[in-house]
Amino acid sequence: MIKRDFDAAAKETFDLIVVGGGIIGAGIARDAALRGLRTLIADKVDFACGTTSRSSRLIHGGLRYLKRLELGLVRQDLRERDVLLSIAPHLVHPLSFIIPVTSGRPLQRVALPFGLLLYDLLYWRKSLPSHQRLTRRETLDFEPGVEPKGLLGSYLYHDCQVPFAERLCLENVLSAAEHGATILNHAKVTEFLRDGNSVSGVVVQDQISGETYQMRARVVVNATGHWVDSVHDMLGKGSRPMVRRTKGIHLLTPQISRNAVVLFAFADSRLFFVIPWQNYSLIGTTDTDYTGDLDNVEAEAKDVTYLLKEVQSIFPNVRSGDIFYTSAGLRALAYSKSRRPGDVSRSHKLVDHEREDGIGGLVSVLGGKITAYRAVAEQTVDLVCHKLSAKAPCTTAEVPLPGAPIVPRQSLQQAANERGLTLDTVSHLASLYGSRFSQVLDILNRNPKGAQRLCPHCQDIVAQVQHAVEQEGALTIEDFLLRRSAMGLSPCQGLDALNSVASEMGRLLGWSYTEQQRQEDAYRSQAALGQRFRNAGLA
Ligand SMILES: Cc1cc2nc3c(=O)[nH]c(=O)nc-3n(C[C@H](O)[C@H](O)[C@H](O)COP(=O)(O)OP(=O)(O)OC[C@H]3O[C@@H](n4cnc5c(N)ncnc54)[C@H](O)[C@@H]3O)c2cc1C
Repeated sequence: MIKRDFDAAAKETFDLIVVGGGIIGAGIARDAALRGLRTLIADKVDFACGTTSRSSRLIHGGLRYLKRLELGLVRQDLRERDVLLSIAPHLVHPLSFIIPVTSGRPLQRVALPFGLLLYDLLYWRKSLPSHQRLTRRETLDFEPGVEPKGLLGSYLYHDCQVPFAERLCLENVLSAAEHGATILNHAKVTEFLRDGNSVSGVVVQDQISGETYQMRARVVVNATGHWVDSVHDMLGKGSRPMVRRTKGIHLLTPQISRNAVVLFAFADSRLFFVIPWQNYSLIGTTDTDYTGDLDNVEAEAKDVTYLLKEVQSIFPNVRSGDIFYTSAGLRALAYSKSRRPGDVSRSHKLVDHEREDGIGGLVSVLGGKITAYRAVAEQTVDLVCHKLSAKAPCTTAEVPLPGAPIVPRQSLQQAANERGLTLDTVSHLASLYGSRFSQVLDILNRNPKGAQRLCPHCQDIVAQVQHAVEQEGALTIEDFLLRRSAMGLSPCQGLDALNSVASEMGRLLGWSYTEQQRQEDAYRSQAALGQRFRNAGLA
């Protein structure tokens, strides 16, 4: 349960304060709490609101990193993929990938079989099947939407998907809370506290009340993703940038493929995906250097045109009018100047500022894919333990996340019968909350309206709002629609449920009429950004 208590936190001295509640910070907080460290995690908006909620939602070794011979990175990520399948089976699922082989690309035809063999061999203990070659006919049976002209066949291989990466992040936070961590969202770190040459804590501003608090800790970890340099700049040292920011966008369209399809762009040979996501397709991504506003990252017309043109080579019927919305996120890659964005390593890096610039008690985490978050967290907490002279082994590869294991269909059916709900609704709840779906259903005992649908075309129910507010720290409409449920990720972006969600949240959080209107307006303008390319007449 997440219970924001700034006053209590300001009275404690923590072993560790984690700044940033994306997947990396959340993983660090969970690992540290499980090892018995007194831990606080603060996010300036909400858990997973940054890049974590704007990814391709894949848990993968990263086939394309083989091109740069990053064998260690791929092996680590393939191992982590298996770890996540075991600790979070309710959130991470196997997914088949097809790589169409087309005429006129001889280099690809030679490189692919080697790459895929290497991908299989790098982590030979893997739980997913090895790749296989499909004929042209088999490819078209498996993936009928693919353009048959010039198609020679394909390769089939397997990786995983985390449809709700936001909930993977949140479950790490919930697990940290269960193990005693202090959890603060809407809590912006605005300054470092200093004790001579060491960081001794942070100043946190509650973004809801506006109050500021001093929070003390023996070690502070800066896990703020693409904000890592701006947070570090609060030391006033004006150092060189630690990360290079590159932007990636996605398009959500009606479903155009059954499997994930890997494409190589004609313009620059980059690899990108068409990914089945819920009943839609997520198409992405791009990779371009970014120097704009860190808090407002948007897709631009040139990004959308690039993806549309490239995807039309294999799926000729896709049009700009099919785009429900776009999303954009920033990678924070350990700084490298010389190469093209796509060539910069995706390996994470830990910066111990005591060694780097003589500032004790501060560690920064650069990069780190969602796939590898647990391993990145383990290395970070090992370093923190070293600094604290604490000896505690990491257990996050064995201890399941709170919503594990998968609930059998029979139990879902039973719950549906008992509560007078459809199996579809209960299955939907289990896909979000795992075994904790029963906590949502328990609310029906107290709230007779809890079983009502939040809007006619989704399975989500009113009790989820209450659960999000009471148990999961949701404080704004955005928190609920985008990061507690997945309603804001559907084609209507949750707008069809906006009034019902706003009035239920308003009731639970005691909003005035004006506050409720302000929240609704804020959500509407946020959603409008993603809809700019609907029917824009591109490509
Ligand atoms: C387009 C794209 C596609 C991707 N696809 C994949 C994929 O399929 N699979 C994969 O494994 N990886 C993928 N990645 C990479 C992955 O998404 C990121 O590496 C990962 O989400 C980064 O997590 P993070 O916690 O470091 O950063 P973030 O998720 O950005 O979190 C940083 C947090 O810090 C908080 N913060 C910032 N400043 C402050 C402050 N002053 N005080 C308090 N909090 C603060 C922010 O609010 C934010 O929540 C993709 C990345 C991009 C851009």
